[in-house]
Amino acid sequence: MAPFKKVLIANRGEIALRILRACHAMGIRTVAVHSTVDRNLKHVGMADESVCIGPAPANQSYLNVPAIIAAMEVTDAEAVHPGYGFLAENADFAERVEESGFTFIGPRAETIRLMGDKVSAINAMRQAGVPCVPGSNGPLNDDERRTRRLADEIGYPVLIKAAAGGGGRGMRVVENPEDLIKSINLTRQEAKSGFGDPTVYMEKFLTNPRHVEIQVLADSHGNAVHLGERDCSMQRRHQKVIEEAPAPGITEEERQRIGKICTDACKRIGYLGAGTFEFLYEDGEFYFIEMNTRIQVEHPVTECVTGLDLIRAQILAAAGEPLPFGQDDVHIQGHAVECRINAEDPEKFIPQPGTIQAFHAPGGPGIRVDSHIYDGYKVPPNYDSMIGKLIAYGETREAAIERMRVALDEIVLRGVVTNIPLHQRLMRDSGFREGGTNIHYLEKLLKS
Ligand code: ADP
Repeated sequence: MAPFKKVLIANRGEIALRILRACHAMGIRTVAVHSTVDRNLKHVGMADESVCIGPAPANQSYLNVPAIIAAMEVTDAEAVHPGYGFLAENADFAERVEESGFTFIGPRAETIRLMGDKVSAINAMRQAGVPCVPGSNGPLNDDERRTRRLADEIGYPVLIKAAAGGGGRGMRVVENPEDLIKSINLTRQEAKSGFGDPTVYMEKFLTNPRHVEIQVLADSHGNAVHLGERDCSMQRRHQKVIEEAPAPGITEEERQRIGKICTDACKRIGYLGAGTFEFLYEDGEFYFIEMNTRIQVEHPVTECVTGLDLIRAQILAAAGEPLPFGQDDVHIQGHAVECRINAEDPEKFIPQPGTIQAFHAPGGPGIRVDSHIYDGYKVPPNYDSMIGKLIAYGETREAAIERMRVALDEIVLRGVVTNIPLHQRLMRDSGFREGGTNIHYLEKLLKS
């Protein structure tokens, strides 16, 4: 029997479609909510019911909590899946959903709140025995002497980060003591205007790390498993461009060691559902930077190498079902690479909305396309520029990359400018092909 009769999808684009597919495969009816410019989204047409929740600006539609709760009430939906972005990591929304008698498909509100503040998240993780980046271990205050001493102890360069930051914003590198106080004040101002919270903290700025993250799944019966890691080091402006699983060069021993640290932490904090521990990885050491309490954009690479359906797992966990497998049943096999396809200017990286004139998806063994676009679809200027994800799987990393290269060359996508040429270049790039490049690699390559 389906764990829920009806689920409301509080998101748009490719992830809304992905959630709809998982629900329908489980025999769950779906409600799509959309803004006025999103009436023609693919999943809206496929959903059992749809409700317009407001005009194009996200704060009047996809972030409009009363409108979403009202849509749940009128459609008799039992649960809501928030996807990523928008309300996915909004503890107040999760709380409102539960108070209204519905189920939030995600962790408990208190967990979202704990992890949403990076300072409290780091403290909780440190207490749970998770290795963190050396830093201030708490917010910076007005005591300049203390702050200077902290920076000297940590050692320059240091990174000033907003406790409420996200999406690669609210971070500033400080190279020397002269710039310290000025940089802190600037980051504080940005944090206040950008996130409504001026709290900042300090971390050692790692100069050569890779971004390696661990996927976890936990149920409401105290069980937790990890599904191995993803490498998301190919970034521009702290935003991921390509992700892969497993991370090149990580041994099974390292995977199990860090994975167990994460599952132990999950049990300790009573984590529920899918989550990601993000680490920087340098010289064989993992340093926790933050935890994401939602499904991530890059979840398909983990699905490819584990054979699991993570959205399905989220729904089952939210319905109170025990995990149907243990750690020993999780096996990582083969290799998967994901390219985020964005409608953006290839040089300036500015979003390029427009109408898709023609779209033919690539195919063949090991190719997966998660995208909501179709011929004639109009990419609105109001939201994220990502129009789809291309995922390639192979028995080996080389095989996955070759399939991705062919798939990228095969795509026909006319009408909007995209970053496909950048991905084509990266699939042929010797550094990427070798594997294990660090988080600064892409920006250096783009400057050269
Ligand atoms: P956000 O929530 O904005 O995504 P994160 O804390 O996850 O912020 O950091 C995003 C990216 O910023 C990381 O993937 C990494 O590239 C870089 N970064 C974060 N912390 C550090 C650090 N201490 N040293 C070097 N780079 C860092």
